[in-house]
Amino acid sequence: MKIAMIGSGYVGLVSGACLADFGHEVVCIDKSSVKIDALKRMEMPIFEPGLEDLVAANVRAGRLSFTTELSAPVAEADVVFIAVGTPSRRGDGHADLSYVYGAAREIAMAIRGFTVVVTKSTVPVGTGDEVERIIREANPDADVVAVSNPEFLREGAAIADFKRPDRIVIGIEDERAREPMTEVYRPLFLNQSPLMFTARRTSELIKYAANAFLATKITFINEIADLCEKVGANVQDVARGIGLDNRIGSKFLNAGPGYGGSCFPKDTLALVKTGHDHGSPLRLVETTVAVNEQRKRAMARKVFAACGGDVRGKSIAILGLTFKPNTDDMREAPSLAIIQALQDGGAIVRAYDPEGMEQAGLLLEGVQYGQGPYDIAEGADALVLLTEWDAFRALDFVRLKTLMAAPVFVDLRNVYRREQIERHGFHYLSVGRPGED
Ligand code: NAD
Repeated sequence: MKIAMIGSGYVGLVSGACLADFGHEVVCIDKSSVKIDALKRMEMPIFEPGLEDLVAANVRAGRLSFTTELSAPVAEADVVFIAVGTPSRRGDGHADLSYVYGAAREIAMAIRGFTVVVTKSTVPVGTGDEVERIIREANPDADVVAVSNPEFLREGAAIADFKRPDRIVIGIEDERAREPMTEVYRPLFLNQSPLMFTARRTSELIKYAANAFLATKITFINEIADLCEKVGANVQDVARGIGLDNRIGSKFLNAGPGYGGSCFPKDTLALVKTGHDHGSPLRLVETTVAVNEQRKRAMARKVFAACGGDVRGKSIAILGLTFKPNTDDMREAPSLAIIQALQDGGAIVRAYDPEGMEQAGLLLEGVQYGQGPYDIAEGADALVLLTEWDAFRALDFVRLKTLMAAPVFVDLRNVYRREQIERHGFHYLSVGRPGED
């Protein structure tokens, strides 16, 4: 099939490269000439494990190309995907749909013949109706059906997630979309990934419900972690004890500094807004949003406590900035709020992240970036592990102790065991485990 992918960010680029790998002919389009020029030079504009090789192989095979010009690839395409950003609208938390609608208007002027227009971006219920209306209004002759096909891939494991998804959700209102969408995903279907066809609005809501549920699950275990600290229980054992129950499941039960990233924060907010707009408030999700927000400040307070209650003039070394490992995405990373709170408290912040420092540099002020864990630890009054990159899983605490001004280690991802660290003479704080006070 001929596919045009509009938006070549974390989702569009990975999806486009994977669809090309399935054997389709894919053109990835982006308004950003910086991104497209980089891609043409085979330089990846984002960090995602395995992406460079996948892109290179499919470009070589002649199935994948890049352009800033939407008209020709859209005219030729059987299926056009919209994978542009849907950030929170400034001020009210609604999803900002201006990029989606802008893309729909451009598509309208370019399509030729029967075309399936698929919204892969995460969009509120009813957006598909509006995409179809915009295209019909701008081009009354357009023979188009609008489909919802939300994406569930995770940054850091995006290729594997796209190629072996738990399910593919496709929301259609017109039966003519069924066959081409089945064709797009045929290789996955052969791998027995369930292809689930629903009504379009249902499909749109599935994505938000999934993300809100996962955000709530994380927030739940974070609150249980707080209680564990008060009562002397161990949140990791609690998580295992409940997670082994198949009805609960063991994933997303790692207590930590709160969820972040480019999806959960904006998607939970947008779902709350949809609930209000339709007179059907989602109080659980509202509370999840509020609890998660407070958590970041609570994590900063943990660092204050580790430093004897005051961080003024102290040097704090931060290991990990991205919201999770294996990505360079800094959008809504908990590190942003935690570092801000430390700086507000008068701390001097040094930081290291294997991939996130470039983007962090655009979002944070006054942070000194180092070359690695031992570099930033030099002279530090506390070392804080914020993101569980593999590179931080086997730190040399003997060396760290000789470098640091004070042996204080705050492990906000529970990567280490208390005895392991205290043995080296460190004061150790983690999340939701005995001995936190
Ligand atoms: P992104 O910001 O990385 O990429 C969006 C790209 O779209 C940008 O490169 C931008 O330049 C481009 N763009 C915007 N308008 C355009 C237009 N009219 N024509 C061509 N290009 C245009 O965003 P992302 O993280 O890939 O997310 C895209 C969507 O997928 C969002 O709705 C997001 O919620 C959803 N999603 C993201 C993830 C994730 O892990 N990042 C996972 C699942 C779903």
